[in-house]
Amino acid sequence: MTEPSAERIKREKDGLDVWTDILGYARTGFESIIPDDMDRFKWYGLYTQRPIEDERFMLRIKIPNGIVSSAQLETIGWLSEFYGRSSGDITTRQDIQLHHIRIEDVPHIMVELDGIGLTTQEACGDVVRNVVGCPLAGVDDDELVDASPLVDLVSRLFLDDHNFSNLPRKFKISICGCAERCAQHEINDIGLVAISNDEGEVGFDLWVGGGLGARPRLANQLGVFIWYDEVAEVVTRIVEIFRDHGDRSDRRKARLKFLLTKWGPRRFRDELETRLGRKLEDHKPLNSVAARRNHIGIGTQRQRGLHYIGVAVLAGRMSGAQMISVAGLARRFAAGRVRLTNSQNLIVLDVPRENLDQVSDALAELGLQSNGSPFRRGTVACTGKQFCKLAVVETKDRAAEIVKHLEAVLPDFHSDVRISVTGCVNSCAQYQVCDIGLVGVIGQIAGQEAEFFQIHLGGHIGDAGAFGRKLSLRVRVDETKFYLERLIRSFQNARQGAETFSEFVWRLQPCQLETLDRIGQVAEVLV
Ligand code: SF4
Repeated sequence: MTEPSAERIKREKDGLDVWTDILGYARTGFESIIPDDMDRFKWYGLYTQRPIEDERFMLRIKIPNGIVSSAQLETIGWLSEFYGRSSGDITTRQDIQLHHIRIEDVPHIMVELDGIGLTTQEACGDVVRNVVGCPLAGVDDDELVDASPLVDLVSRLFLDDHNFSNLPRKFKISICGCAERCAQHEINDIGLVAISNDEGEVGFDLWVGGGLGARPRLANQLGVFIWYDEVAEVVTRIVEIFRDHGDRSDRRKARLKFLLTKWGPRRFRDELETRLGRKLEDHKPLNSVAARRNHIGIGTQRQRGLHYIGVAVLAGRMSGAQMISVAGLARRFAAGRVRLTNSQNLIVLDVPRENLDQVSDALAELGLQSNGSPFRRGTVACTGKQFCKLAVVETKDRAAEIVKHLEAVLPDFHSDVRISVTGCVNSCAQYQVCDIGLVGVIGQIAGQEAEFFQIHLGGHIGDAGAFGRKLSLRVRVDETKFYLERLIRSFQNARQGAETFSEFVWRLQPCQLETLDRIGQVAEVLV
């Protein structure tokens, strides 16, 4: 069997060991970088961006649990201003990704990040990626437990450890203490969700083997109760299982989800218990909950008299100046604490009641609205063709155009609807689990190549989670905003009671789905 090149590259030199080479390349320049090392750069959060002739990189900064201080956000903002042409994207894993970075500037950027306690190390590559959690951890009135210390602990467990720096593929972990289960455990390799047992003691429900990409899979619940103090050990053993049994012969089948499909949850649990040297405690399946998963607007915190303000970030993209200004507001009018969400939005914490109007007005002046439309708060976009080498369509500007159009033509639409604008099938913007998933594809118009979006409808996670229904319909990218307008009007016309967009989609017959954008028609069919 031929060894995949990614495995050879890792075997010949570990990704973590490329750091001294990066320092050397910073002196000798882009052209001196050998291709295998370029691949290993991912272990330090660096990816080449398109066009390759520009000789620039994307740089992903890990923000565990999306928890960022004013000082950290301000520094990232300045780094973006100095080195990244004032651009920074909040990702669906609560990271911040800068663009336009020159190899010559990487050492200085890393020193600055180190100085504020942040790292890009293992933000990419075949390693444990940024660990995600509820962005309201520690302040939410209803949370079962503040899981952010666990996120911090687990983030450090694998960092800079050669035992875990050559996994078969990337590995994603979510740890969530809130009652809403908002940290997407269903689509992570490991999802830990706070639950309470019959005695009212809090622990975690363990899910494994979720993931999106070209072959999506929802995680399996192992039916075990994990105590708070057990989390680090259990997570470590699972990452070891993946390291030792993941399929290294074919990268397309290397993620943990494929091992779960092959073994099934029972065998996986047996292997985990063997490695732990003990049986895990059984527990009943979770009761169904309607996941809120939206942190936009003003809410009260557990801390008396304090509030959070969640604001919508258009397509997840901020300028360096915006980051610096948000950091300043959070410091001046609150306690200097900011959170990033998996919807590519942000939250300012600890705002006293008397400062609420001032802070939300100032945020709105920055283009960050706490009362943003459902389209603005619910639209996520991946990096897309502007920078990503795998993309076939542009996404960030297209997402902004779609949001602004829908806001203009549907000002009275108030339901939550999650829209994903994704540049290719790899699903960095999670199109399979969004109400409306738009995936870039190339097609033909009159014999000429043209860009389209393939349409997926009705995706959602939660206890009855389902991937979106793929239509045969493809829409030209420049006509997509009009298609979505018609689609949402049809939903408004045909909706029954408080039905969500996804519930509406799953009520339809396949033939009705394809005609969903024809205003009135679906309403008549459904009567
Ligand atoms: Fe790039 Fe595709 Fe990921 Fe978008 S989904 S960032 S186009 S790899």
